[in-house]
This record gives sequence, structure tokens and C-alpha cells, in this order.
Amino acid sequence: MSGMRPTGRLHLGNYWGALKNWVDLQEAYQCYFAVASWHMLTTGYDDTSSLLENEREMVLDWLGAGLDPGKAVIFRQSDVTEHAELALLLGMITPLSWLENNPTWKEQLQELAKSKREKMLASGPTQEAQPREAEAREELRTHGFLGYPVLQAADILMYGAEVVPVGQDQLPHLELSREIARKFNGLYGEGTLTVPQPLLTETPKLPGIDGRKMSKSYGNAIDMLETTESLSKKVMAAYTDPTRLRATDPGHPEPCPENPPGCSVYALHKLYNTDWPRRGDECRAGHIGCVACKKLLLPPLEAGFAKFRERRASYASQPGRVEQVLDEGRKKAKAAAERTLEKVRRAMRLR
Ligand code: SF4
Repeated sequence: MSGMRPTGRLHLGNYWGALKNWVDLQEAYQCYFAVASWHMLTTGYDDTSSLLENEREMVLDWLGAGLDPGKAVIFRQSDVTEHAELALLLGMITPLSWLENNPTWKEQLQELAKSKREKMLASGPTQEAQPREAEAREELRTHGFLGYPVLQAADILMYGAEVVPVGQDQLPHLELSREIARKFNGLYGEGTLTVPQPLLTETPKLPGIDGRKMSKSYGNAIDMLETTESLSKKVMAAYTDPTRLRATDPGHPEPCPENPPGCSVYALHKLYNTDWPRRGDECRAGHIGCVACKKLLLPPLEAGFAKFRERRASYASQPGRVEQVLDEGRKKAKAAAERTLEKVRRAMRLR
């Protein structure tokens, strides 16, 4: 079981950070992948105008990347209202302190307030930024945002998930879901809810084209749906190694003290070009210039994108296809969710 907040079109950071892994996992497990629309509302409740469009774009990216509705259950969280009921019931037993001590919540609160402040700064006088940041933080101190780990626990526990694919940094989140499941079972009957295990996944580090973390908000992302032209433009402008002034200067393709973020082009070579060790050697020896190295990346990169574009376009050209995928997913997810909820209601003597 895993999910993504519908933020619209995905970028390569999303693909290599999670989606690629999902595509592999669907071959080995019965997978449930949710469009986590309610999670989107925990911080973005004030503007839902693009929500439906963003959901559609994200699902098209999933399908383009190779998620197969014949293998995995692909559904919209908000279509399976059982998630809300389970979250409500789990909320009854979750101590407030577990939520208030969630380090991610505190960090995100700060991050989101900061980014709201930056937006405000861009549109208004600077002296008002401080009080406005406090105001933005207050706006985010909602029941829904504080309680999102309970909703997340409901998402996971609903499908009896035995494993949840997580990176090292998401382990505390999963631990909270496990704690909630253990407490529930202790109160109402061992084995009612499956306590999930983490499936630790290694994901390659892919910086944005400016060398910072790839993020939509930094404007440094390579979208999964770049055209040949826009892809080439981004690669040719990408961050390399600032210590190289001439093509014959020895370069530092990997992150190191001389080039802390590492070369963004080399990171892509490693993912898309089977000949990447040679590029690294040539760079380190000063036997290749950055322009030539970037040009050599374009054909293998383009090949990876072409496959994605073709699959995505085929789904996009079929009227109602995305809705049909989500509807089939809704039916399967709902049937499984209803089975779990029935067990939960009986265990709690609500039936
Ligand atoms: S030669 Fe290639 S790997 Fe080396 S810094 Fe330039 S673009 Fe990066």
C-alpha cells in the first residue's frame, strides 16, 4: 500500500524516488496505490480549484510510467469513504502526544509557513512578512493536519498491508501506524489489524538541474512529460562542475568537497546511460567537455522519455479511460475496505 498527494504532473524526482519502485513492486505483490486527495487537503484546503485536474494528470503519469491497472489496484482515496470511518475510529485511541511529537509535523509546519511567507513577500510589502508568517502557521494548525498520521494509518491498515515501501526518512511515520495498530489490537483483539512491516527501499539521489534537491517549488525539476525540445534545453542548461573552466580540467562528477552537490548531468547518465562509467572516467581525466558530455546524454534520456510519452498519450487519447481505471480501482478497494471495517466494527462492539 502506498499513495501520493495529487500535486499534478510528476517529475523525475517523483519517478526515481517512488514510482519506479511501485512499477517493480506490482510484479511481486498485490499492490494498492492511492491518489491521496484527502491528504492534499490537510495543507491545501484553501484552494481546491485544481484538485481534479491534478489527480487526472498524476494518474496519467502513473500509467505512463508503467503502473498496470490489471495488476495493481489504482484508486482515489476520497472515493473509498471507509478510509474516513477507520480514521475516525483510530483517532479515538490515538493520544494527542503521539501527534504533537511527530517531528515531521513540526518540520512541515515550519516549511509550509515559510513557503507561504515567501509567496506573501513576493506579492506584498516586506514589513508585513513576519506577522503574516505567524498567521500562515496558525492557518495550518488544523485538526486535519495534526491528525494526518491517523488518516495515513487508516490508509495502510485498511488493506491489511503486510509491507509498506518506505525510505529511511519515512520510518517514523510507519512506526506511528504500527503503534496505532498495536494499541488497537491490544484493546479490541489481537490480530484484528495487521501490523505492517517496512519494506526499505533504496532510491537513487537525483538533484534538480540547478544542483539542489529536485522540487517543483524550486523550478529546477525535469517533468516526466518534457518534450524533446524542453528536455534538451534543460539538460544543456543543467548544473555541472563549477571548478571546470576548460574541457581539459579534471572534473568532479560525484558529490565531493570540490563539488558538494555533484554534477546533475552525471546523475542522469548513471540512471539512463549504460555507458556512464566511461563518462565519469573521461570527466575525471579532463578528456571530455561538459557540452559534449551533455549531448551524449540526450539520446539515452530521450529513449526513456519516448516510451513514457507513448504510453501516457495512449491512455490520454481514450476518452474516460482514467475515470474507468479509478472506478475499477474504487470497486476493488471498497470491497477490501468493507471487509476490514466489518472486522473492526465487530471487534469494537459497534455491531
Ligand atoms: S564532463 Fe559531464 S560529468 Fe563531468 S562535470 Fe561536465 S557534464 Fe558533468
